[in-house]
Amino acid sequence: MNHSDSERIAAVLENIGYQKTSKMDDADLILINMCSVRQSAVDRVYGLQPKFEKLKTKLPTTDSPLQTILTGCILKSDKVKFKKMFDLVLDIKDLPNWPQKLATHISTSKIKDNFSLKDDYLEIKPKYENSFSAFIPISNGCNNFCSYCVVPYARGREICRDHRKILEEIKKVIQRGFKEIWLLGQNVNSYQSPANSNLNFPKLLRIVNDIPGNFWLRFTSPHPKDFSDELINTMAESKKVTEYLNLPVQSGDNEILKKMRRPYTIKHYKNLVKKIRGKIPNIALSTDVIVGFPGETKKQFQNTVKLFKEIKFDMAYIAKYSPRNGTQAAKLEDNISEKEKQEREKILTDILKQTAQEKNKKYIGKEVEVLVNEQKNGFLLGKTRTYKTLKFKSDKNLVGDFVKVKIIDATPWGLKGEILT
Ligand code: SF4
Repeated sequence: MNHSDSERIAAVLENIGYQKTSKMDDADLILINMCSVRQSAVDRVYGLQPKFEKLKTKLPTTDSPLQTILTGCILKSDKVKFKKMFDLVLDIKDLPNWPQKLATHISTSKIKDNFSLKDDYLEIKPKYENSFSAFIPISNGCNNFCSYCVVPYARGREICRDHRKILEEIKKVIQRGFKEIWLLGQNVNSYQSPANSNLNFPKLLRIVNDIPGNFWLRFTSPHPKDFSDELINTMAESKKVTEYLNLPVQSGDNEILKKMRRPYTIKHYKNLVKKIRGKIPNIALSTDVIVGFPGETKKQFQNTVKLFKEIKFDMAYIAKYSPRNGTQAAKLEDNISEKEKQEREKILTDILKQTAQEKNKKYIGKEVEVLVNEQKNGFLLGKTRTYKTLKFKSDKNLVGDFVKVKIIDATPWGLKGEILT
C-alpha cells in the first residue's frame, strides 16, 4: 500500500514542480513515506536525524533550503516526536491538500497554486514506478484491530473505493500495456463497493478478469476469516488470476490467535488451505507469521512448527514480535527473550527452507511463463505466475515482457532457467 501511496505522492510533487533525485544530498525536499508495522522501520526513520541536521547546515544549491516531510502510517504517539524532527508531518489521506500546505510552509518559486486535485487521495492519478506492474488500491484502512497491529490506528477504518473508479484506473493501465495488476487492501477480501452492495471482492475479481487484455491479476492481503467459497471458486475459474496466494496465519496456536484477535482457528485455516488446493492444485502458498508473541509458550510455538510441517508453505514472512505503542498487545508483557525469538525464527526458517526447496524442485524441467522485472549483470529476473523468483541469462532487455523459460535448477528461494522465446 505504501508503494502505491508513493506513486500518488510522486504525481502530486511532480505536478507542483519537483523532480526525483537519486541522491539524498542533492535534494531540497526529502519525503519519507513511513511504515509503522515494525518498530525497526520507525527506528530507521529516527536514525535519519543526524543526516538531516548535517544536510540542513549545508548551503542550499537551489532557491529553497532543505525541507523534510514525513507521511505514511504514523501513530499519534510517534507523531508528536516526529513533529520535532520534520518540517512537516502530513496525513496521506490529505494528499489533495498538500500543495496548499506546502505553499504556506515553503517560500519558493516551485510551488504554484494552479493545481486541481481530487478530494479523495486514491483518485489522484499515480506516477507508476514502471510500465508493466500496477498496484491498484481497492480499499484503505482496516476494521480488524488485530491486537499487535497499528494499521487501524495509523490508517483509520476501512474505506472501500467505488468499483467504477477502480475499473477506470485498471482499464487505463491495461490500455497502456501493463502486464500485471495487483489489487491492494489491508483486508482486501472484505471489499464491498460503496456504489453497489452486491459487489463484493470475488465479483470485483471476476469483472477485472473479464477486461480484455493480456495481463495477470494478483491481490494482497486477504484475511482467512473473509475467505469465502465464492472467492475460491472465482480464483479457480478466472484465468488471469495467478496461482499464488499469501494467506497470513500469524500463529499456529488457537490460544495465541485469540490473544492476537485473529477470529479463526487453525482447523478453519487448514480447511481453507485444503479447499483452495483442491480447486487450484498448482497454487503456491505463502504466509505471514509472528514468533514470540507475548506469553507464547514453547508448546504453543510447537503448534506453529506443526502447522508449517503440515501445510508445507512455498514462502513465509517470519516476524519476531515487537510491541507497537498504542496497540492492545503492547499492554502485555513482552516476555519472550530476543534470543528465544531468534531461535523460533530459525526453526521456522529451517522448515521453510526444506518445504520451499521440495516445492521448487518440482519445477525442474518444466516450461513456465515469467514476467521480467529486472535486468542485472547479464541476467534477467522475473516472477512466475506462482510468484517464484526466476533468473535466466539473456542479452536482450526484456523487462516488462512475458517470456517462456525452461527451469533447469531450483533453490529454496528461487528458480534458474533457460530462455525459450
Ligand atoms: Fe492489521 Fe489485522 Fe488489519 Fe491486517 S487485518 S491490517 S494485521 S489489523
